Amino acid sequence: MTFVAQQLEHIRQELPNHVTLVAVSKTHPVELIMQAYEAGQRHFGENRVQEMVAKHAEMPKDICWHLIGHLQRNKVCEIAPFVHLIHGIDSERLLLEVDKQAALNHRIIDVLLQFHIASEETKFGFELEEAETMLASEQIKRLANVRAVGVMGMASFTNNTIQVRQEFRQLKSIYDSLKQHFFADQSHFSTLSMGMSGDYALAVEEGSTMVRVGSAIFGQRDFH
Ligand SMILES: *Cc1c(COP(=O)(O)O)cnc(C)c1O
Repeated sequence: MTFVAQQLEHIRQELPNHVTLVAVSKTHPVELIMQAYEAGQRHFGENRVQEMVAKHAEMPKDICWHLIGHLQRNKVCEIAPFVHLIHGIDSERLLLEVDKQAALNHRIIDVLLQFHIASEETKFGFELEEAETMLASEQIKRLANVRAVGVMGMASFTNNTIQVRQEFRQLKSIYDSLKQHFFADQSHFSTLSMGMSGDYALAVEEGSTMVRVGSAIFGQRDFH
């Protein structure tokens, strides 16, 4: 068994069945990622458009590609033909662009609304009020080619588990509130994407349904 297959097996044993494991393969070569594919992994996450496009071209076509990083509007067209889920919707303009590019590709693209929950200034994402205003607008409600299926967030980069747990709780309550007010009759709004290598167990305890795990599967990467 390869190192990657062993790591995957270990992580899967810890995850309840309702939690989707996204293997974050950014910076890693196709040969290494294929070890995960051969161990049955089908959901992969990348944070750079160029890299995801290149890997999508080279790798088996039954892979579900997740764009997990910040997405620039002018790059949406490159992933629109094949992306499975865009995690980082952080503005109305980006959402409109995804809808437009999805329509051009005759498909509906699923997205997550990213929320700012960490204490660091640099992380992208909506504040709750801003997202509520957007979701209440008639123009947004009419969009036919983009579908919000949940929310995503990143906790602070800290060893303070009390703080991290608090931030995950905050994201869960944002998710619950949006579900109740905007998606009550829509069962597809069901994804709470939170948790990475260092904190996925905590995230699952706090209600995560999708974890994005990189280094715990593939080993350390150079800074990216
Ligand atoms: C890189 C990355 C991850 C995975 O991080 P690890 O600590 O390697 O598990 C998860 N989510 C996002 C948004 C990332 O950029």
